[in-house]
Amino acid sequence: MKIDGSFLGGGHEVGRLGILLNCEGSRLLFDYGMTATDPPLYPNPCPPIDLVFLTHSHLDHCGMIPWLTARYDIEILATGVTADIAMMLIEDSIKIGEAEGYPQPYDKRDAKIASRMFDDISFGQTIDAGSVRVKMHSAGHIPGATMYELQGDRTALVTGDLHTLDTRLVAGARAVKCDYLIMESTYSGRNHPSRVKTEYNLLKKIEEVTKRGGTAVIPSFAVGRTQELMLLLKDSKYDFWLDGMGKTVNKIYLRYPQYVRSIKRLRQATNRTREVRNYHARQRAMKGEVILTTSGMLDGGPVLSYVDAIRDDPRSAILLTGYQVEGSNGRKLLETGMMDFKGVSERVECEVRKYDFSAHAGHDELRAFAKACSPEKIVLMHGDEREILAGDLRTDGFEVLLPKNGEKFSL
Ligand SMILES: [Zn+2]
Repeated sequence: MKIDGSFLGGGHEVGRLGILLNCEGSRLLFDYGMTATDPPLYPNPCPPIDLVFLTHSHLDHCGMIPWLTARYDIEILATGVTADIAMMLIEDSIKIGEAEGYPQPYDKRDAKIASRMFDDISFGQTIDAGSVRVKMHSAGHIPGATMYELQGDRTALVTGDLHTLDTRLVAGARAVKCDYLIMESTYSGRNHPSRVKTEYNLLKKIEEVTKRGGTAVIPSFAVGRTQELMLLLKDSKYDFWLDGMGKTVNKIYLRYPQYVRSIKRLRQATNRTREVRNYHARQRAMKGEVILTTSGMLDGGPVLSYVDAIRDDPRSAILLTGYQVEGSNGRKLLETGMMDFKGVSERVECEVRKYDFSAHAGHDELRAFAKACSPEKIVLMHGDEREILAGDLRTDGFEVLLPKNGEKFSL
């Protein structure tokens, strides 16, 4: 099996992923996303293809699907949960784009067409993609996140975003023996602190904040992170509220129990969570103990009202739970103690902390995963510091390729 590949985006960077693989005459595309920065970044235009595989629903993997389906009559293969959440995020990104006034790569009509082009796949299933067979495996990143194994006389594994440790929401990915491994490398050069310790530290901080009479505002990504935190908080004594898009994601996850580690626990967590459904509830939540809300990087959404309400109160705290991208409001807050409210930069006097609840494998976990897959060649992608991990993998005896966007590679 011969594979010729190139990255339309997301090769030497985190974001806007598009992996084009020509495999025995089948032109396959894995993911087609956008980087939701201000202004947004898009991958290179995709040439005609035969089939699209979507690894998961984060916008940097799925955000350009409507651009594809507006031009080509093609199927998008994805798990049901990935398709539902991808469409929710795509529709939301159209609204945000309209509000920000940037030229948009597609419109609502294109999104509607895209929503009809998904074909449901599930883990363990194998399908024919022209001259190759493709098998689906869990990637452990968020519920429904998929790794694709291409099978011919040789095998190749495309990981998408990858997490190998079990979290409360989803079980970690297992290695798949393969000849070629195309693996993400977001955390090349960096390891995460122990999850048990991070959870303990966050709970301890919430206790401190509530004891001194403050409110803990926890900005968190709607997809995956919010549910992980709900599962952590469900056994605590706190009165906790949920606002923003996480509410819709909960409903979708509950429809797809097969992709969640314990649907029973997720259901308990949703029952235990107080959802903010109207203005009055929001006023009550503002005086509550803990609020989980979007957006995770403070770039919009209900979180801004909650932060605005507590920012002068030294008893209260903003507890960040995700990576804060350069240029985001959350990054600005961490670096300067100031953040933007409706275009005006204001000082934040309450406590600000950050906790690492990443859904990506860290450096050592990526290295261990690659070793367990024991491939002949490794292509590292989706990373801006790929060289560090590549160095360690070469020490382990692997041939490692680091193609930049647009550069051709052969396997
Ligand atoms: Zn992701």
